[in-house]
Amino acid sequence: MQLAGEKKEGNSWHRFGRLRVCFRGAEMVVSGSPNGSQPTSQPAKKYGITKPISVAGPTEADLQRNIELEKFLIDSGLYESKEEGARREEVLGRIDQVVKGWVKLLTRQRGYTDQMVEDANAVIITFGSYRLGVHGPGADIDTLCVGPSYVNREEDFFIVLHNILSEMEEVTELQPVPDAHVPVMKFKFQGISIDLLYASISLLVVPEDLDIANGSVLYDVDEQTVRSLNGCRVADQILKLVPNVEHFRTTLRCLKFWAKRRGVYSNVTGFLGGVNWALLVARVCQLYPSAIPSMLVSRFFRVYTQWRWPNPVMLCSIEENELGFPVWDPRRNPRDRFHHMPIITPAYPCMNSSYNVSISTLRVMMEQFNHANRITEDIELNKAQWSCLFEPYRFFEAYKNYLQVDIIAADAVDLLTWKGWVESRLRQLTLKIERDTNGMLQCHPYPHEYADTSKPCPNFAFFLGLQRKEGVRGQEGQQFDIRGTVDEFRQEINMYMFWKPGMDIYVSHVRRKQLPAFLFPDGHKRSRMLRHVSLDAEKSCEEASGFQSGSAEKNAKRKADSETMDLKSTRPEKQAFISPQPPESASPESCAIQR
Ligand code: ATP
Ligand code: MG
Repeated sequence: MQLAGEKKEGNSWHRFGRLRVCFRGAEMVVSGSPNGSQPTSQPAKKYGITKPISVAGPTEADLQRNIELEKFLIDSGLYESKEEGARREEVLGRIDQVVKGWVKLLTRQRGYTDQMVEDANAVIITFGSYRLGVHGPGADIDTLCVGPSYVNREEDFFIVLHNILSEMEEVTELQPVPDAHVPVMKFKFQGISIDLLYASISLLVVPEDLDIANGSVLYDVDEQTVRSLNGCRVADQILKLVPNVEHFRTTLRCLKFWAKRRGVYSNVTGFLGGVNWALLVARVCQLYPSAIPSMLVSRFFRVYTQWRWPNPVMLCSIEENELGFPVWDPRRNPRDRFHHMPIITPAYPCMNSSYNVSISTLRVMMEQFNHANRITEDIELNKAQWSCLFEPYRFFEAYKNYLQVDIIAADAVDLLTWKGWVESRLRQLTLKIERDTNGMLQCHPYPHEYADTSKPCPNFAFFLGLQRKEGVRGQEGQQFDIRGTVDEFRQEINMYMFWKPGMDIYVSHVRRKQLPAFLFPDGHKRSRMLRHVSLDAEKSCEEASGFQSGSAEKNAKRKADSETMDLKSTRPEKQAFISPQPPESASPESCAIQR
């Protein structure tokens, strides 16, 4: 990638198809003191595959903004208490004892010598947000258990260890998921959520100080094991590849919080999840090695509003080796050429961590990046506060038309698995709608579930915003008919392998004004008064940041809109002909964006 004013030197960029990837970028030496102000005679450590954009350190004003940012994050409750931290360590210690005991038991049962039983070992290694040091209160702990070659996943892990755990009082909600892409055992240990993976490596004895970063752990293991080891190897690499781990952590906490508030934190729906945000932030840390979090947050939005996707974000060059595991390579793998927002993991075998991103979710994220960029520019000019950046996204005011996907099941347990399945397919619905309307009707899946507690049966609902493609004028009376699309989606959903009686799904169209009351637990919609108050609050944020409210334009657009879309839902009482409005530049949200 090249940003305005950035000069790309010494890289070998390979062009192929529509992608451009730097495979063996010559590392640039950045010299400068840790705060970037004084060049030193020693060549500084190099980070990343290109030269930094700037090695400037913070000014007094940056330091002040940083204090305010850190205070904001603490006040927002993003950090766990010391007691909770200690409890997590205690729980990890207990799990470590359990897996060690489990491996010794199996070693004895298999008739190995006493010496082997004594030496038999398993280690646990954390990864994910806990390992990166950015987890909040109540977060899960992603944990990998590494065992010896003769302890397998299918029976030893998913049956023997499962049985041991199921008999422990401290363990609740034990749920094995052996057929997942990355097989996992989920449970709570003393109330703390644990995702436990298993990797059997080709050693008879697992050393206590096993170096997971060393590629030799990948010798003679299957792809599931490689995937299971990958999370730890990636976390390890990320922490090695950033210039300042503490700055990286604070910035990542901030970006994860922002992404959740703005409705773009969700891997499964086609947005980005924990590891993707971590990689994006890490790259910005490399590009501004002396910047502090307050600077990095604004540089983040500056960089990614200008990023020319699908150029990949990479923390290091993509390594190939004799083990021959597939790595992300659009020259060789045609499928890789169709990734819209490649964010490449930094440990062998390097993969695209964000293959779920579609044109529509990328569009939504770019809108959010642009919106945030304007706010951070104003924060830098002291014209806005940090709180403006984290204003929750008002999804139910952003569109005039929505699709409501209702999910029901016979009981709460069935509902959980059924909901997981439907949620994982929502991306497909988005893709199908855009495909069947030639991209004229855009679809925004919202990664939150809602429950209607007034209904007798266990239920959840998801919502998708609909809008006509921006800049495309609809003909008078033009209709979008997506009944076939919705039917196709329902058919696919109903092919669920673990379907049980009672599991059902309804897709219906709702106009904004008809959105169900359970979405607004504080009262049906916001009352005029409340709305007025909250718009005032928003206005003060806008004023502080110099935004226009644009209401005249908003009204004109509303009046001019006469386009209709024909959508029949599968639920007879909700069959309806609806009118999608033009992109909701009419919402206060988007008005703020359109400066
Ligand atoms: P959170 O705070 O949301 O738990 P996290 O970083 O722990 O964030 P998870 O979704 O819990 O993220 O995933 C745990 C780990 O699993 C990630 O850090 C990553 O190592 C691995 N992982 C998850 N999704 C992917 C993916 N799409 N590609 C590669 N690795 C992934
Ligand atoms: Mg996690």
